[in-house]
Amino acid sequence: MANKKKWLKKDLDSFKNLISSKISIAEDELEESKKIADQMLDSSQTNAIYSSHMADASGDHVELEKAYYMISRTKKYLNYLNKALTMIQEGTFGICVACNQLIPKARLEEVPHTTKCVACKEDR
Ligand SMILES: [Zn+2]
Repeated sequence: MANKKKWLKKDLDSFKNLISSKISIAEDELEESKKIADQMLDSSQTNAIYSSHMADASGDHVELEKAYYMISRTKKYLNYLNKALTMIQEGTFGICVACNQLIPKARLEEVPHTTKCVACKEDR
């Protein structure tokens, strides 16, 4: 553990910016998915009153499930991004927990919350 690798401050700052912008995009998507789910909920209740076709109702149900799935997926993604921001603060961001090397930038841009480099991830 003699010389532990570290990111430069400017690199961390640019990662922070990147992650923050990913967070705001994901938050917009979350709002959008919630709106879609609400609208579907409204229209499916209306359909339930005015339509006696069970097939239509179950079709709506599938769409609604999809919307809820998107919501939970986006929430999970937001959690990961926030975790990455915490890791930046704690100084553990972008450093492989297995080999202590810096994780390549390209991989961090793709998966900011990752804790292992590709080699260590595959080697287990
Ligand atoms: Zn590694």
